[in-house]
Amino acid sequence: MDVIVIGGGISGLAVGFFARQNGTSVLVLEESTQAGGKIRTDWQDGFCCEWGPQGFLDNVPETLELVRLLGLENRLVKAGQAAADRFILRNGKLRKVPLSPPAFLVSDVVSLPGKLRVLAEPFMPRGRAEDESVLDFARRRIGREAAEVLVDAMVTGVFAGRAAELSLPATFPKMAMMERTYGSLTRAMLALRKKGGGGPAGPGGTLTTFVSGMQELTDRLVAALGPDLRLQSPVAAVQYRESTASPWVVKLANGEELSARNVVVTVPPPKVSALFSHLFPPKALEALGEIPMPPVVVVMTAYKSPQPFAHPLSGFGFLVPSREPRQILGTLFCHSIFPNQAPAGTVLLRTILGGARQPEVIAFSDEELLRLVRRELHAILGGDSDPDLVRVFRHPEGIPQYTLGHPKRLAVLDETASRFRGLYLTGNAYRGVAVNACIAEAKKVAASLR
Ligand SMILES: Cc1cc2nc3c(=O)[nH]c(=O)nc-3n(C[C@H](O)[C@H](O)[C@H](O)COP(=O)(O)OP(=O)(O)OC[C@H]3O[C@@H](n4cnc5c(N)ncnc54)[C@H](O)[C@@H]3O)c2cc1C
Repeated sequence: MDVIVIGGGISGLAVGFFARQNGTSVLVLEESTQAGGKIRTDWQDGFCCEWGPQGFLDNVPETLELVRLLGLENRLVKAGQAAADRFILRNGKLRKVPLSPPAFLVSDVVSLPGKLRVLAEPFMPRGRAEDESVLDFARRRIGREAAEVLVDAMVTGVFAGRAAELSLPATFPKMAMMERTYGSLTRAMLALRKKGGGGPAGPGGTLTTFVSGMQELTDRLVAALGPDLRLQSPVAAVQYRESTASPWVVKLANGEELSARNVVVTVPPPKVSALFSHLFPPKALEALGEIPMPPVVVVMTAYKSPQPFAHPLSGFGFLVPSREPRQILGTLFCHSIFPNQAPAGTVLLRTILGGARQPEVIAFSDEELLRLVRRELHAILGGDSDPDLVRVFRHPEGIPQYTLGHPKRLAVLDETASRFRGLYLTGNAYRGVAVNACIAEAKKVAASLR
């Protein structure tokens, strides 16, 4: 066999699919009874409950290519116009995120001195550090207040992380490049706009899903892979026989042994460490151990009335910067983002908790989580309603954090992998947590298989 892929989340399924497209023989091994990893969709009483990702931005060519090859183009659903309104909690009140420079000038999301400091961004000197936290970078460029409100909220939304701990070049490489190349984010945005580029977090895109939710993507990959995907096949050990043509021997928990020329590992770092502890040098195991994956909890609440809270609940949802004394990271207004995900005249909210800020919530019971979410929504949205439906999804290994030093860790891991013939480490722990990044990396890996 040419390739064994360990793990059947979106990364492993996409590697398998693209590898087969390239004429490579492949077997994807997934430990659980269902493939898809973090991607899983449940429908209940007409409400769409996503366990993991709510969608992906429609601006990454590799994802759009995968969608086309799977024949899913006519199943795409884009976020509605109402989702353009996003909110941030500031001093206990929800404020609309300004989307244009004039809107920023009149917005109440940052104070007047805070706005003036943002306007001074083009005059701030370039940084010198090779690696720097997202918060330090943002404070340096746009000032403390905008950094702690706007940038902290963005980091919460993407990584459920702490801006003070995450590495800028690892999490937002485009921002680092903009400062390096243009000396200022403002100058970079003006230059890139002329070229048709995008904002500091990447070119803009629209949040997109499928008619039946995100699982439609992984279900279609599962169908396309057919017998080249094996479920309930946990990999228990990996051996390397350097001098043979198929150097990789993968042992399943049931004792079965499979060999291949290449092995692609897409499981989370703690599992990579366990499988490769006898092969990797201590510095590589240390690097893997330094990629934290704090837990994330999703609490879905649905209301069979159009106005369960004082807030109109029209828009994308809100994020909570860490300086607000609250216990949730944010809430999406799912019925407003994708109106097909809830019956007409109802409300579907998706509240995210945990991450690097509050990892302890993973141990809370469903009742404790619901009590907490109701208390927080009451304080933020006004009013209180008994939800008609509640679903709780726990991700013990939630979203990997690319903390300071991540670029050096990647260099160590790349060097380690290069010592073995046909070894590839991919998945959300290294070069992007978004579904788009997983798919783009998967395509690259599939193209480099020998
Ligand atoms: C709550 C939440 C919300 C998110 N929202 C978004 C979003 O809106 N948009 C977005 O783009 N991204 C989002 N993400 C991130 C994105 O969903 C993930 O980064 C991505 O799905 C990870 O895919 P993966 O295949 O790399 O890893 P995983 O999905 O974790 O897959 C790894 C797979 O390996 C399997 N496995 C583990 N050990 C073994 C073993 N020994 N043998 C065989 N198989 C094994 C697991 O069962 C699993 O199926 C979100 C993540 C979470 C948790």
